[in-house]
Amino acid sequence: MKILFVYPHFKKYLETNPGILEALNFPLYASYKSTPSLGIPIMTALTPDEHEVHFADGNLDPIPYDEHFDLVVINCFTPQAKHAYEIGDTFRARGVKTVMGGILPTNYPEDAKKHCDAVCIGEAEQTYPQVLEDAKKGKLQEFYVGDNTFDMANYVMPDRRLFKNKKGYDWKPVLVQCFRGCDMRCNYCAIPGAHGNCIRMRPPEHVIKEIEMNMDMDGLFIADDQLLFPTEVTEKYAYEFFSRLKDLNYKKSIFLSGSAMLTKDEKLLRLVKDAGVDHLYCVTGFDPISMKAVTHDMPEEAETNFKRMRDAGLEIFASVTMGLESDTKDIFEKHLKFLERNKIRFVEFWLATPYPGTPMWRKYKAKNRILTEDFDLYNGAHCVFQPKKMTKEEMEEGFLYCWKEFFTRFPLDPAEAMKYYNLTEEYQKKHGLISDDDKADK
Ligand code: SF4
Repeated sequence: MKILFVYPHFKKYLETNPGILEALNFPLYASYKSTPSLGIPIMTALTPDEHEVHFADGNLDPIPYDEHFDLVVINCFTPQAKHAYEIGDTFRARGVKTVMGGILPTNYPEDAKKHCDAVCIGEAEQTYPQVLEDAKKGKLQEFYVGDNTFDMANYVMPDRRLFKNKKGYDWKPVLVQCFRGCDMRCNYCAIPGAHGNCIRMRPPEHVIKEIEMNMDMDGLFIADDQLLFPTEVTEKYAYEFFSRLKDLNYKKSIFLSGSAMLTKDEKLLRLVKDAGVDHLYCVTGFDPISMKAVTHDMPEEAETNFKRMRDAGLEIFASVTMGLESDTKDIFEKHLKFLERNKIRFVEFWLATPYPGTPMWRKYKAKNRILTEDFDLYNGAHCVFQPKKMTKEEMEEGFLYCWKEFFTRFPLDPAEAMKYYNLTEEYQKKHGLISDDDKADK
């Protein structure tokens, strides 16, 4: 079969809320493009050689509607829904079989199904091979359902060849995954819904092999919130993984995801640093420890955790979520004080978003609290549901206040800002951060 994999376009966070750009005292490049998440490279790796594979990234390319394909596979998360649905409708109208998978179709299959022939619910390893078999016979089923029991020891090496050398991306990190699932069940997180309520671990040597195979990419992003959890089993894994990563002597930038739920093991944190991790992308605001700190004014545990990180030489980039049920109008100032007390210099703010189809979203929907079903706006930059203790306007004003106020109180010089923020090329040139010659040959 001739198969087209599509990664649909989505409007970026800053594109849908220009108020954020206006609130900032340094100019950001709003339309940032990075390579697709893991769904497509995993499916291409699972595709037998007998098939011919093609790829279109809707963020860079026109969709090749006029070309002949036997099967179109669309992988999407919520902010991509509009384009994903349009692509599905267009190919179907031309008689081409279409399949959708990813976080949105997994959480909200009945909606995705209106725009494609088949929906994959759950992980590709448990659904996609059967899709291929059935498509070959011309007998696609409507739904393919996985059950989050896939053994991570059988994880295939993601195949990035379709986009690795493609021009137009602003950032091409090796995005790797050590774990799937999470037992924390934070209210607004899509991970437990998409991958289950218990952690499944991939053999650490397998992850290291994947990194070795992609040393030519722009750096490493280890996208596991749970890797530094304070539990015996995750700490044991982390020791093995980071020891191997240290031996690899990886020279480029390494981003690691996390939350305020952090290991207290100082030796492990030093190993993380020695392995080359320089940045911890830390999602705060809705895990139990940061809620205790900010919402309930008991900051000690979070502060000690972050101090341990700093002492180990790990820099924190906080992604601060606000807009929870318990939040009142004083929450914005509380977040700012929390960041100040923890000496966090790099930050982004995020409005809690109940993703369509999740239990949280269905609960709000039943109570008529969903304010919009424009899924372009489900990207953390908008208040999409009726808050409990504020108006929508108060919530959005408080959110913009945080963006403005944080960088007014703690201004970054241009070189510091460049470490984490996508500054416009004009601004970078003005401050001598790049020359004309550096201009992308991307
Ligand atoms: S936010 Fe992080 S800690 Fe909470 S459920 Fe999601 S992955 Fe787990």
